[in-house]
Amino acid sequence: MATISVENPATGAHVRDVEVTPPDAVAALVARARSAQPGWEALGYEGRGRILKRAQKWLIEHADEVADTISSETGKTREDAMLVEVAYGANALGFWPKKAPKWLADEKVHTFNPFVLGRRMVVRYRPLGVVGVIGPWNYPLVNSVGDAIPALAAGNAVIVKPSEVTPLTSLLFERGLHESGLPDGVFQVAVGTGETGAALIDEVDMVMFTGSTRTGRKVMERAAQTLTPVSLELGGKDPMIVLADADLERAANAAVYYSMQNGGQTCISIERVYVEAPVYDEFVAKVTEKTKALRQGPPGAAGTVDVGAMTFPPQVEIVERHVQQARDAGARVTTGGHVRAGTGRFYEPTVIADVDHSMTAMTEETFGPTLPVMKVADAEEAIRQANDSPYGLGAAVFTKDLAKGERVARRIDAGAVCVNDAALNYLALELPMGGWKDSGMGVRHGPAGLRKYTHQQALMVTRFAPKREIHYFPYNAKITGAITRGIELFYGRGHR
Ligand code: NDP
Repeated sequence: MATISVENPATGAHVRDVEVTPPDAVAALVARARSAQPGWEALGYEGRGRILKRAQKWLIEHADEVADTISSETGKTREDAMLVEVAYGANALGFWPKKAPKWLADEKVHTFNPFVLGRRMVVRYRPLGVVGVIGPWNYPLVNSVGDAIPALAAGNAVIVKPSEVTPLTSLLFERGLHESGLPDGVFQVAVGTGETGAALIDEVDMVMFTGSTRTGRKVMERAAQTLTPVSLELGGKDPMIVLADADLERAANAAVYYSMQNGGQTCISIERVYVEAPVYDEFVAKVTEKTKALRQGPPGAAGTVDVGAMTFPPQVEIVERHVQQARDAGARVTTGGHVRAGTGRFYEPTVIADVDHSMTAMTEETFGPTLPVMKVADAEEAIRQANDSPYGLGAAVFTKDLAKGERVARRIDAGAVCVNDAALNYLALELPMGGWKDSGMGVRHGPAGLRKYTHQQALMVTRFAPKREIHYFPYNAKITGAITRGIELFYGRGHR
């Protein structure tokens, strides 16, 4: 049996070997899920909710073990593991079972079309069957397990294919669900490489994919072969706009936090900042000073490290390349700018000033602890530059003028825009979260983020039996006349 060796990126230590599910074993896994799903669906919202709430309790009781596991395979700090991942999971395990009965309840529909008057019409939602969740390495709990929770609450069986770099969190969560009473086969983990992910696409009823735009395209192409629906949460290059009247201290804190948190390896990281000219120098000075003060290193005791490791080896080269290319093109690195010497895989928290769109640091996803800052003449230029990107995931605007902030926000081409905050929309599971342009298709969170795991079925029940239906055969001239008069009567007024 082939295995994957999991390494701790912060120390280089070997963590554990895990067994791989080869592509040709995926069909059997899905068959098992398929036979377990009807029993899970039959438990109803209440029965499923009870088990998911028990899993919530399990997660809270095992928070330390889960956070340690996440840190060991990603190299992220304890706070990044606890605050962003464990807290998200604990919230989601309560939220989805509570919302599912409301958001998936039958909806009564009324029509004014005279040709179908008198019928009872209902939209109902039914689980799809088996959902395949394919996740990235940067948030093994939020983006692999996290997306499985609404799918389970809706009544589906789920198979998660975590990144081969970070399979341990999904395996631990599988244990947690089992100990919480989830029936066998309803949640399974397929550890493996991209080939295992590709095989999963062939077998499941829907694919929830989170990862790079490049792989997202491959996933959609593969899914087209079996007409399997996909939801794609892809890469980003989130801009922050800082207007001259902003609370500069708050804007600088947010820029540093949301670019460096999780080592900058977050899809909705702040990846570029546009600052109005009058406050540009002061802003650069502030973010430089704050970034210099960050403590970086292997996750240690609580509150001892701010910025963790680079999880995925090739990502370090991308960060190095972007910073070097910006330097060569005339940008100013005001702090950081190098791979950190010593054990573990770290890139120094880095601020790059005086950048522009000739530099890859401003146009391509860097996915590292870098904060490039560009001077702009005014809000108009900031909006233009923010929208000059193939990506459209999130964005942030800082200003004390809230009306202006909202006006600017509404002109940015992105799935979510925060005013005087960044990325925080992710925690409001009531809000849809999804990318525009190359950042994705579909949303997670909100009613649409739950309904995508279901079929919609339209029910029409005719309560009465008219003697003669206007559209039944045989057609005759009298009927044609009635139809014509009906069209004129109901739709024709004002159109002559
Ligand atoms: P990848 O696209 O490289 O991988 C994502 C997942 O897809 C992994 O499990 C990977 O397996 C798997 N995979 C690879 N090839 C295929 C294939 N042909 N068919 C099916 N599955 C395949 O992304 P990363 O793991 O590098 O994650 C980083 C990216 O994720 C960034 O671009 C980031 O912006 C994005 N992201 C987006 C989020 C969002 O909500 N929009 C949230 C978090 C991250 P393996 O790892 O084993 O190769």
